[in-house]
Amino acid sequence: MSTTPLLVVKNLSVTFGRQAPSTVVSGLGFEVMRGEAVAIVGESGSGKSVTALSIMGLLPEASANISSGEITFEGCDLLRLEPNQRRALRGLKIGMIFQEPTTSLNPVLTIGRQMTEALQQHLGINRHEADGRAIDMLDRVGIKSARQQLPRYPHEFSGGMRQRVMIAAAMMMQPRLLIADEPTTALDVTAQAQVMRLMRELVSESGASLLLITHDMGVVAENADRVVVMKRGVGVETAPAGSLFANPGCDYTRRLLAAVP
Ligand code: ADP
Ligand code: MG
Repeated sequence: MSTTPLLVVKNLSVTFGRQAPSTVVSGLGFEVMRGEAVAIVGESGSGKSVTALSIMGLLPEASANISSGEITFEGCDLLRLEPNQRRALRGLKIGMIFQEPTTSLNPVLTIGRQMTEALQQHLGINRHEADGRAIDMLDRVGIKSARQQLPRYPHEFSGGMRQRVMIAAAMMMQPRLLIADEPTTALDVTAQAQVMRLMRELVSESGASLLLITHDMGVVAENADRVVVMKRGVGVETAPAGSLFANPGCDYTRRLLAAVP
């Protein structure tokens, strides 16, 4: 891990609603260094997903508003980019996986298509080569007979397998940052640990950074270098994972830790 920041979020505030806007993220700041795994934790509704969507440029435009802040990725201010530049960056350098595979995988596209489309479009890699890479990646995440799986649709896979496909698809472009929002919540406990380990491995191998959003402190303990604690839209504490667990800085964090089974 280096000490060069890859992602810097400064004083981020997000509101919802036009008439009487309510603030759901308020003055949030944190950094993710190159190669670092940072977790965002906090109880449900504390603004974790809204933060991820702000970085991805995926907030619902009709209702949400970034009322202040800067989001800098590789030195480039994301909030000042034109929408098409932002989309390109998202496709090329930032990958995201969600809790619900249906939001990360397109139900009407074969997995082969969605794994290779960006490679072909943005990197000009031909179909044959792109398919080859998709097969290698599916192999890597433990999908058997990978070549035969390319023409299949997401619904033909079990929940755990879909989550693996989703990770494979997100890693195809070798993103510099992977944002994972509750990536394993829908899985049983054993599959959760396996999928999480796999994701962590792929991210580390490629030297990428990970922004891991979870309410599971056990997952944080195993996977994060540093932790940002959010409470009702506010970052109440940021600390290295080890010291947060040994010595939580506030009662709220202590309560979150106490909820670990
Ligand atoms: P978390 O991911 O930490 O559980 P969220 O970031 O999803 O929380 O939500 C933070 C707050 O923003 C919540 O109060 C939620 O109700 C509100 N919120 C999220 N999405 C929307 C939306 N599309 N419209 C209105 N309010 C929203
Ligand atoms: Mg959420």
